Amino acid sequence: ALAPVYRGRFAPSPTGPLHFGSLLAALASWLRARSLGGRWLLRIEDIDPPREVSGASASILTTLAAFGMESDEPVLFQHDRGEAYAVALQQLVDAGLAFPCRCSRTDLLRAGGHHGRCQPHAGSKRQPAWRLLAPPGVLTFDDAVQGLRRQDVAKDVGDFVLRRSDGLWAYQLAVVVDDAAQGVTEVLRGADLLDSTARQIVLQRALALPTPAYAHIPVLLGDDGQKLSKQTFAAPVDACDPVPALRHALALLDVPAAALPAGGNVPALLEAAIPHFRLPGADRGLGVPAAAWRRDD
Ligand code: GLU
Repeated sequence: ALAPVYRGRFAPSPTGPLHFGSLLAALASWLRARSLGGRWLLRIEDIDPPREVSGASASILTTLAAFGMESDEPVLFQHDRGEAYAVALQQLVDAGLAFPCRCSRTDLLRAGGHHGRCQPHAGSKRQPAWRLLAPPGVLTFDDAVQGLRRQDVAKDVGDFVLRRSDGLWAYQLAVVVDDAAQGVTEVLRGADLLDSTARQIVLQRALALPTPAYAHIPVLLGDDGQKLSKQTFAAPVDACDPVPALRHALALLDVPAAALPAGGNVPALLEAAIPHFRLPGADRGLGVPAAAWRRDD
């Protein structure tokens, strides 16, 4: 059988302009997809209107384009996806894997998270949140950068939220439904999301969706092991002058400066960088070999 074509993605939340840390994650996922001859997809994770900054989606997309990164397929906006999330939640409810919860914050604090179905809250009028009934046991996955990881979701996290009581969809449900809908074969993102991965795999299994490969790149990437300041990391990048930030990001991703054209513009720098991109830690021989994907040509 033919191996699948690599499909990677970048999925920013529009909570502000693209900052340098996000540029780094976007660039790594773009280079990974291009170096494997695959596709790169964009998804705007705008499921949380209260946290959304107006104009941020457009600004993120414009900035990514200035850095030479555009989605190979139409950008998916999560605000359009409510129907798909509702179908997924219903599937879990029908399978007895999700349940309504009217516990208050105080209930949850007292119980140290949510473990097992709620006591019926007789007469409660408030809209329920919906939670996944977390399956017991340790889940193991092999991250292409971080190596073998294990988590007992039921014990360490508990029954996590799929839909909030205010009707908003939870990140964990939306990301799983959309990674599957976009046919993503590998999720490459910052290690700040490593802790969400076991929950996402639990959900994929509950929904009978395929589990992609995972690669969580370190959020601190200085090659001298030097910690990047929050200032550098959180600073918005300048879409009008992309070359300096692009060179900086490529250096942090260990693309040798000598491989890049001296006076290069964005497309020239990206093109030159593609054959030099390696996953951080890939020399440890961990993770999914590139040969697992067929080139898209
Ligand atoms: N939207 C999430 C964020 O910006 C990232 C989701 C993901 O890559 O899975 O933090």
